[in-house]
Amino acid sequence: MLNLRRCIKFIAAIIFYYSGIFIFYKRFIMNGKVTILMFHRVTDTFFDISLLVKQKTFEECMKYISQSYPVISMDFLSQNFDTWENIPDDSFVITFDDGWIDFHDAAFPVLSKSKIPATIYLTTGFVSSECSYWQERLNNLLIPVLANRNIFLKTDTIISIPEIDFKLRGLISKSEDMQILFKFIDCLKKFTHDKIMKTISDLEEFLEEHSIKTSRDKHRSFINWNELNNINDSNISYGSHTVNHMILTNEQTNVVEDEICKSKEIIEKETGRKALHFCYPNGNYNDGMKKIVSKSYKSACTTNSGFVSKDSDIYSLNRIGINEEMVTDWRGNFSKYVFTLSLFLESIRQ
Ligand SMILES: [Zn+2]
Repeated sequence: MLNLRRCIKFIAAIIFYYSGIFIFYKRFIMNGKVTILMFHRVTDTFFDISLLVKQKTFEECMKYISQSYPVISMDFLSQNFDTWENIPDDSFVITFDDGWIDFHDAAFPVLSKSKIPATIYLTTGFVSSECSYWQERLNNLLIPVLANRNIFLKTDTIISIPEIDFKLRGLISKSEDMQILFKFIDCLKKFTHDKIMKTISDLEEFLEEHSIKTSRDKHRSFINWNELNNINDSNISYGSHTVNHMILTNEQTNVVEDEICKSKEIIEKETGRKALHFCYPNGNYNDGMKKIVSKSYKSACTTNSGFVSKDSDIYSLNRIGINEEMVTDWRGNFSKYVFTLSLFLESIRQ
């Protein structure tokens, strides 16, 4: 079914590419626009495939973009934003969120070979640490919880926050296994970071008490300061993605200020490079946060899907999130046809 859908998309993409719609799209819709691409992981496996692009796909995608479009840096975009005069039509900016280790191992070698500028938004608390992304930790905990759902459902109050405990019990009794993780992640995103962390430690405690084994990933997930300092390439800029990747709209102002300002100080101290650009974790922001960010940064990205033009707000820039399915054909090979159709579909969704 998935292959059939992707086959149909591929055929539609070829028709689109060679039809007048593509020419119209390039000439009129993308005139005066910049596309900021958002990548997360460049690796072959990850529990959340919506955040993944395979290395081979990434390489081909970058080759295609750099040969077909102007690629500008976030520094160049922010410096020329007010006048917009020097910004080429239909240009691209490449960004990476979170600071995954595969930026060093897989993405940077490709970018460096073709001298493509890019910005990596670092979550400074993740850099050089063994900690993992809470969504990934939750995935590793929910697999054994679901395999032992009878024990879970028979035990009174596992998660000490009643609303969260109630929600997880409801999902486990009613939803399909495949949906539970992502529905539960969506539910947790409404709570403060402290409550999310408490939920994770309560689940760990429950599994430990019942001697249920969890699968712990021993590999380091995030880049470290040595790797960042070894990159030492002026085409690569380091931006901030806070200290702890908290959803800022759920937190108190003093916490928000600390997350926004301390991460900048840490990056500048550890790398000796300026951190001029910011990216809101999970894309959540409000006017108060934009104000705090504007005091120390030159730009800020959201996760809102869309393009950037002269009328955009430099402190809430839209991006297009890229994953494997958006850029590959039914065989899993990079396809410029599928890539351009995916961008076109995003442009008409606005
Ligand atoms: Zn992020």
